[in-house]
Amino acid sequence: MTDSWKHVLNVLYLNGAVLCVSDDVQTPVVVSIDEDPEGVEETLELLEARFSTAITPLVSSGAKTIIPKILEDLKKGIADSKIQIDNDTAIQAFIIGQVSQMLESRNNLLNRLLVEGAFRLGEVLAANVFDSLAKLWRGHIQSTLEEIDYQDMVEGLRKLGLIESRLQVSICPNCANYELVVSRFLGGPDACPKCGESWTTAKLYSFVPAYEKAKLRNADLALFISSYLRNKVSQLAPLGNLDVNPNATLSLKGVRFEVDVYLPQFNMGIECKIFENSFAPMTTTRLGSIKGPLTKQIKNYASLGIKKIGIVTNLPMDANEKLKATLTKEIRPGSVAFEMVPGDVEELVKWLDLLATRIAEEFNKALEKSVQSYVKPQPELRHPPPGIFANRPKREVETPPTTSMSGQSKGPPNQIEAS
Ligand SMILES: [Zn+2]
Repeated sequence: MTDSWKHVLNVLYLNGAVLCVSDDVQTPVVVSIDEDPEGVEETLELLEARFSTAITPLVSSGAKTIIPKILEDLKKGIADSKIQIDNDTAIQAFIIGQVSQMLESRNNLLNRLLVEGAFRLGEVLAANVFDSLAKLWRGHIQSTLEEIDYQDMVEGLRKLGLIESRLQVSICPNCANYELVVSRFLGGPDACPKCGESWTTAKLYSFVPAYEKAKLRNADLALFISSYLRNKVSQLAPLGNLDVNPNATLSLKGVRFEVDVYLPQFNMGIECKIFENSFAPMTTTRLGSIKGPLTKQIKNYASLGIKKIGIVTNLPMDANEKLKATLTKEIRPGSVAFEMVPGDVEELVKWLDLLATRIAEEFNKALEKSVQSYVKPQPELRHPPPGIFANRPKREVETPPTTSMSGQSKGPPNQIEAS
C-alpha cells in the first residue's frame, strides 16, 4: 500500500455530519488551503475595513449564505459556467443574481449604496468567503486529522475523482488583490497577477454524488471494509466464495438490527463507529455515553448468533484502548469474541489483512478436505466436511448493494433475514 492510498483512506474516519457546510445544508465538503490562512488575516481585515462599517455585518451574513447557495446551484447545474469575480462590475452582476434579494429584503439602504457604487463589494465578499472556508478547514482539522494528513487526503481524493471543485478564492497578502472563482474546473495562477508575489488560495470541494450519499450515512467505511475483504480473500483463496454484506439489516423475532459488515459464513459482524470528534478526551462521562449503546449493539449481534465481532473506530489508540477495557468489563466472558481496531489507516489495513488471511485459510482447508474426500473416498468423509461449506440455514438476501467506493448507484440497504 503506497502512501498516497493511506492518505486518501483517512476520509473514512471523517464523520459526514462534521464535513457538512452547516446544519441547514447537508452537503459534506472538504477545503484545501495552499498557505497558512493566518498569513492573510491582516489583508482580510484591511479589505473589510475599507468597507462602510455600517454595512459589513450585512455583507458578512450574505457571504455565509452564499456558499450553500452556490453549492445548491451547482448541484442543479444552473451555475455550471465559470464565473470569475475579480472586479466590482462582475461582482455586482454576481451579487444581483445570487444574493441581492436577500440583502435587499434586509436593508434597502444597502441596495441604494450598491447602485451608487459607494463601496467595493467584491473585496469584502472575497474576504468573507475566504474567512468562511478557513473556518471550515480549521473545524475539519481540529476534530479529525492532522493538518498535513488532511491536505494530503484532499489532494488524493481530487486525483481519484471522488471530489469536485466548487469555488476558489485567492487573496494576495502583498497588494490586497483578490479573485473569487465559482466553477467545477478550477486552476489559476499560484502568484498574484497584479504584483507577482505568491498569494493564498482556498478551494472548496464537494463529493461526487454516489460518495456523498455514503458519506452522509457514514456508510463508506463499511463499504470499504467489504470490498477490501472480498478482494483480499479472492487473492488468497481464489476458490473461496466470501459472502460479505455491507450495511446489512438482520431481523430476529420481528426486531431489526443493523450490522455494518456481516460475514454470515463466519458468524462475524463488524461494527463501524465514526465519532464526530474523534480527538475529544475520553472522559468518564464520554466513555459512559458511548459504552451503553455499543454494549447493546454487541448483545444484539450475539443474539443473532454473531459470535465474532470486530469494532472499527476513528478513535486514537489510547481512547480506543480505554473503550476496549470498558467494554471487556461489560461483556459476559465467553459470550462473544470481539476485537477493536483504532482509527489508524495502517492498523485497519493490517487487521483486515490478518482477517482475510484467516478467512482464506479456512476456505483453503475446507477445499483441501473436500478434494481429499473426493480422491480417497472414505465412508465417514462422503459428506461435505462440516464448517463453512456445511449446509447453512437459508437466508433471504436481496440484491446486494454496490460495494465499490465509487459505485454508480446505491440500492436499498441489504435485507437479510436471519433464521
Ligand atoms: Zn499582489
